[in-house]
Amino acid sequence: MTDTYGRKITYLRLSVTERCNLRCRYCMPEDGICKKRHEEMLTQEETVSAIRAAAALGISKLRITGGEPLIKPNIIDLCAQAASVDGIREVCVTTNGTLLPKLAKPLREAGVSRLNISLDTLDPEKFRYITRVGNLSDALAGLEAALDCGYDRIKLNAVLIGGFNDDEIPVLAELTRRYPLDVRFIELMPMYDSGDFGPEAFLPCTVAAERLPGLEVMEPDGSVAKLYRLPGAQGNIGLISPVSAHFCAECNRIRVTADGKVKPCLHSSDEISLKGLDEDGMRETLRRAILSKPRWHGELSYRERSRAGRNMNQIGG
Ligand code: SAM
Ligand code: SF4
Repeated sequence: MTDTYGRKITYLRLSVTERCNLRCRYCMPEDGICKKRHEEMLTQEETVSAIRAAAALGISKLRITGGEPLIKPNIIDLCAQAASVDGIREVCVTTNGTLLPKLAKPLREAGVSRLNISLDTLDPEKFRYITRVGNLSDALAGLEAALDCGYDRIKLNAVLIGGFNDDEIPVLAELTRRYPLDVRFIELMPMYDSGDFGPEAFLPCTVAAERLPGLEVMEPDGSVAKLYRLPGAQGNIGLISPVSAHFCAECNRIRVTADGKVKPCLHSSDEISLKGLDEDGMRETLRRAILSKPRWHGELSYRERSRAGRNMNQIGG
């Protein structure tokens, strides 16, 4: 359906858990999360009803996210059910990749067509630092497993953090020559509790283009990334700039959190609950949420932090 600003809403980002096996500094606090009661979260049945209700309103692309979606014991079954909903043409998963060695193949068989893998650094010590607990080797093994499984073009997402990984822009970009994948640099968003990053950490992602001489401009692919390519590369370089040049005018998405809150806008605290509703009720609630989507998310900067009222692990990115 179309919202009040003429934007066609076709994309649902569905978070299936707030929990994660990593603790990225920009995403969640060190001591994890304040665990919600099981009864507060959407059940699998409610989650599938929410997908059906969204599809009835014209949602055709679904992204499953989290927290880390692959820690959910029922993730394969959930993806298979999602992929069989009428009207859902694409089921994508966003993951930190560490559990892909076991799950890349079953996810593909369940009908997931695309994977976005988050990877901010190729340095094992920096990986441990930024994730607080993770091993780079697990993420790289996950990437290799995904490449072996015949997914459509895999996207590797790196949050660009000044003073942390801006020196790795060229090595991360080089992955597009070595593998058939896209590497996308995403600006760090100032969330409620997203670590103690100083102003220097918040770089506009145009910096990535400046550090990659010879980039060719590519045609847009319908995503929010500006696309480029290194000469001779197999995949694109994408720049995603939610902070320095917001793309709200083209926003085609809504979000549903693991506890069943529809978020019409990532950076607004407005939420409407789906918990406990039947499918008709969910459809009407989703319709109301789409009609209440704001025109834009307001200023975002080091000083003007997101008004989302949640950290990213509780929204899904
Ligand atoms: N655990 C999965 C993962 O890491 O891909 C899915 C959930 S994670 C919240 C989704 C995306 O949000 C990841 O690519 C992560 O890097 C990004 N993210 C989290 N916090 C962010 C922030 N403060 N600014 C920009 N991106 C952020
Ligand atoms: Fe977990 Fe993803 Fe957040 Fe990192 S970015 S803590 S992997 S949810």
